[in-house]
Amino acid sequence: MSKHMLEVECPSCGGKNISKNGMGHQGMQRYLCNNKECPKKSFMLKYLYNGCEHGIEWKIITNTANGQGIRDIARSLEVSTQKVLDTLKNKRFHKQRKLRLYQHN
Ligand SMILES: [Zn+2]
Repeated sequence: MSKHMLEVECPSCGGKNISKNGMGHQGMQRYLCNNKECPKKSFMLKYLYNGCEHGIEWKIITNTANGQGIRDIARSLEVSTQKVLDTLKNKRFHKQRKLRLYQHN
């Protein structure tokens, strides 16, 4: 069984009645939420994949090293605050974070 089929979920309302809506910037697939109550309706898959993208952790670490708050980072990188916290708790990145801070100083 392959797990490549990913269920797309609306990041605003969690709805699963989703249609494709063309391509957004950087070639990201855009989606449209069909939930009439949904506050946002349009979103890109990037929102859902961001947390798994290689490099997002680096951005989180770098921004933290630059003194940004967790909420600010989450907002600017379009990830959840939980993702930021998880990344900061991740030992693998702790080492790199220290290196980063040394360079910064
Ligand atoms: Zn929605």
